[in-house]
Amino acid sequence: MIRTLQTTVRKVVHHGRPPIGGLRVTPKPSHLMSSATFSTRIQHADEKVADASTRQQQQQQEQQQIEPALLNKIINSAHHIHDIQKADRLLVVGSGVAGCSAALVAAETYQIPVTLLFAGNVPEDCNSFWAQGGIIYRNYDPVSGDSAKLLAQDIHRAGAGLCEDDAVQKVSEEGPDRVRQLLLDESLKKVYAQVPFDKRDDGTLSLCLEASHAAPRILHRADHTGRTITQHITQAAARHPLISMQPHTIVTDLVVKDDVCLGVATLNRFSGEQTLEYACRGTVLASGGLGGIYEHSTNPAGFNALGSSVALAYRAGAKLKDLEERDLNIIIYRSCSVVSLIKGLKCLLKYEN
Ligand SMILES: Cc1cc2nc3c(=O)[nH]c(=O)nc-3n(C[C@H](O)[C@H](O)[C@H](O)COP(=O)(O)OP(=O)(O)OC[C@H]3O[C@@H](n4cnc5c(N)ncnc54)[C@H](O)[C@@H]3O)c2cc1C
Repeated sequence: MIRTLQTTVRKVVHHGRPPIGGLRVTPKPSHLMSSATFSTRIQHADEKVADASTRQQQQQQEQQQIEPALLNKIINSAHHIHDIQKADRLLVVGSGVAGCSAALVAAETYQIPVTLLFAGNVPEDCNSFWAQGGIIYRNYDPVSGDSAKLLAQDIHRAGAGLCEDDAVQKVSEEGPDRVRQLLLDESLKKVYAQVPFDKRDDGTLSLCLEASHAAPRILHRADHTGRTITQHITQAAARHPLISMQPHTIVTDLVVKDDVCLGVATLNRFSGEQTLEYACRGTVLASGGLGGIYEHSTNPAGFNALGSSVALAYRAGAKLKDLEERDLNIIIYRSCSVVSLIKGLKCLLKYEN
């Protein structure tokens, strides 16, 4: 066999002339190849390789463009289990403040590769962009009397006793630290966002008194706090080397097998292409609230606040509760946010008194 191959090779290389020394071949005229034929054959061989590679790519694409009905078959096939094992990443659904925060912490603190999927064309297309008033922090001025305990009391009062204490304690105790880490990043690496919140003349943060808060502890940036926060935190996520952004991707289902979420099924808003995205490190649903399903709301147009997280989790078999508890900020009457108005008036009255 080797001899035959060598013979053929030498025939080709020497264009029919017997090599000097070594294997002597007596070429038959019919077996000889002109240099033109040789080039053509090489070209054909190249084309075959290119065809095979294109076919392989097409097959890979076809394998990803699976109808939902075939989902179970795919999950059960060895090929896709291999794919699942390869998908060493965390999937985060949603590019708002919640999604970007989760992605940044996973990527920076835990060094996990993250794919951030979102329905909009740009990550700023989210509800977070439209938040106006500000974000809760803590007043570290001893004169203010602010503390985690005081914030917890305020949340319980505002929640009329319906809030779960575990969640309230977590937000009260850890919330300000997370805000400082994610939005007021003063570390040398500057991985997270450095949001230019309003400051006082002396350079300290300007904290506002709002709604049911007993101390001024709201960070703000004029009346477009959400816009400024969103711009900075989406940029921080976009520049992180372990985070990749995937726009105009609507997540239509969670891929679940044996009660384990393996990833998500997606629909490209423009091409209509359906794909499966697997993730071994888990899937985070940060796709916002559901205020947009009301006839009147302050939520922006587009794929925002349509209850995706709730619907996706429900379809995957998750148990849901307390769905009637909605943030009243979303409900508006005659273009005027009643709650925002009350918040503002209360704040004003407290200052004036
Ligand atoms: C007018 C207004 C004023 C507000 N003012 C304040 C305020 O002053 N202070 C305050 O704390 N809060 C305020 N809020 C509420 C606050 O904006 C929201 O609670 C917060 O932004 C929610 O952030 P999020 O990251 O959870 O969701 P969002 O910012 O809504 O992000 C959701 C993301 O999920 C994506 N998504 C949704 N469904 C899918 C899907 N199926 N597939 C893929 N991607 C999907 C969207 O494209 C988006 O990227 C206000 C809200 C509004 C509307």
